[in-house]
Amino acid sequence: MTRQADTRFANAVVVHPEPERFQDAAFAELQIAPPWSIGICFNPSCGKPFNPARSWQIYCGTSCQAAGTAEMRKWGHKMALPMLVHRLGKYDRQDEGVMERTRAARRYVTQVQSAWLADRNIRQREAA
Ligand SMILES: [Zn+2]
Repeated sequence: MTRQADTRFANAVVVHPEPERFQDAAFAELQIAPPWSIGICFNPSCGKPFNPARSWQIYCGTSCQAAGTAEMRKWGHKMALPMLVHRLGKYDRQDEGVMERTRAARRYVTQVQSAWLADRNIRQREAA
């Protein structure tokens, strides 16, 4: 016996509860003040000049793109839980434990951001 596919929602608009990528959400702002130099590889271990095939290309090639993705994963993964914890308790003004936990999360994210930037600066100096 074959069942007929349920097509009731075939033409429904797909809901995407996730926000778009930062590069899309802040496209205009990044165009005005890009945090990278156009035509200079954004991988601090590389930093070589290249001719971008697309206006949004920030890495010189696939290996630097892969290194950039790995870098975002590494540091992003460190910050994901504390960012969520910070947001969970952001507006709590009653529970001192939650407020302290929220401050610890905020402090940790700031420390990781600073460590990430320091790591990039060291790698950039080593590559030069
Ligand atoms: Zn590169």
